[in-house]
Amino acid sequence: MNIWSKVSPSEKSKYIYRIARLMQERARELAIIETLDSGKVIRESRDIDIPLACNHFFYYAGWTDKLQYAFPNKKVSPLGVVGQIIPWNFPLLMAAWKIAPALAAGNTVVLKPAETTSLTALKLAEIIRDSGLPDGVVNIVTGYGDTGAELVNHYDINKIAFTGSTTVGKIIQKSISGSDKKVTLELGGKSANIILEDAPIDQAVEGIINGIFFNQGHVCCAGSRLFVQESIYDIIIKKLKRRIDKLIIGDPLDKNTDIGAINSKEQLNTINNYINIGKSEGSKIFQSSYKLPNKGYYCAPTIFTDVSQSNRIFQEEIFGPVLTIQTFRTIDEVIKKANNSPYGLAAGVWSDKGSRVFNLSSKLRAGVVWANTYNKFDPTSPFGGYKESGFGREGGLHGLSPYINLK
Ligand code: NAP
Ligand code: MG
Repeated sequence: MNIWSKVSPSEKSKYIYRIARLMQERARELAIIETLDSGKVIRESRDIDIPLACNHFFYYAGWTDKLQYAFPNKKVSPLGVVGQIIPWNFPLLMAAWKIAPALAAGNTVVLKPAETTSLTALKLAEIIRDSGLPDGVVNIVTGYGDTGAELVNHYDINKIAFTGSTTVGKIIQKSISGSDKKVTLELGGKSANIILEDAPIDQAVEGIINGIFFNQGHVCCAGSRLFVQESIYDIIIKKLKRRIDKLIIGDPLDKNTDIGAINSKEQLNTINNYINIGKSEGSKIFQSSYKLPNKGYYCAPTIFTDVSQSNRIFQEEIFGPVLTIQTFRTIDEVIKKANNSPYGLAAGVWSDKGSRVFNLSSKLRAGVVWANTYNKFDPTSPFGGYKESGFGREGGLHGLSPYINLK
């Protein structure tokens, strides 16, 4: 048994609250470091990522002494040492999603951030040290994928929690098969954003923009496949193009910027490659005419129309500010099209009618379905995928289950 599992539930809660409070106190510093390190705009780091990361610690702090009630008639115990591996798109937020529930459930943690964006995780380590949490309970180890693989294969690790690409997720699953390690995988996505003809048009256009261009499209649940009902197609496309042309692209540290930098040269190459594929597949391209900065890695917000279901840009995750657009006539047709994907992470439905929203959300094979909004996150709400988007849930009570043994 580790030291942490012997700390009483109410004491555990105080430590986790203290971490959350210290993060809040240093929120400005965390936001600036996050933006410098990742290229995401300061407005997002400041108003979304950092506050949400704090909220995950606040939320899970409240569970430490309620586990027995949450899982009635069961004896709840921690798993032991948990290895956690996270990607570069939401560096601090992903660290919070991973560490907070693991601690609340009584585990100790070894977390490996993505090597290109490890600064806020290291800052978090400093905060955790300052919180007085006993040494060795949370450990941050930096390094590339080979360090992640060491963690996966280490015999003292009882569970692996991974967020990243489907390719690496499959490698991890293979390497732990035959061992008694537990695993949860949060992988890629190609999520459908569906606009019905009775949707509030202007809000839907904002929702499309937020769905695909939030964090430069480096979002696992990005609404990267847009489906618009035929009768409103022309008006939606017209408004969407006008809106895209108004987006301010540039310095991530400027609080007026809408679209920041692409995280790395490698990712920019991947995105540009897909844009070329889209053109050569015969889809029609529209890009923002905003002048991109000369220095740094930038990509103009891009939409493709005349896309077919078999096109690579429709099937494969691009992980950048690139949207594919298709039309539909009937509800049955859009359900079929939306579900025609190896992924199943999220979806959005825009309609004035509750019954339509419920009908669609029950038939879409996606872990999260947003209605008349997109990319909204909350620590109380479980998040996770179907199919090749992985398994296991993070957030809410569901997010505790992967970190406990039940007897
Ligand atoms: P990635 O290449 O899979 O990397 C994710 C993490 O795994 C990084 O820390 C990486 O280290 C590490 N890693 C690489 N190879 C490994 C191996 N063989 N064994 C163990 N760890 C290894 O993913 P990415 O390109 O950074 O991130 C983008 C992907 O993540 C997208 O597909 C996106 O959809 C997915 N994602 C999913 C969610 C979700 O909740 N479902 C959230 C965010 C992102 P280094 O990069 O430092 O080398
Ligand atoms: Mg990678």
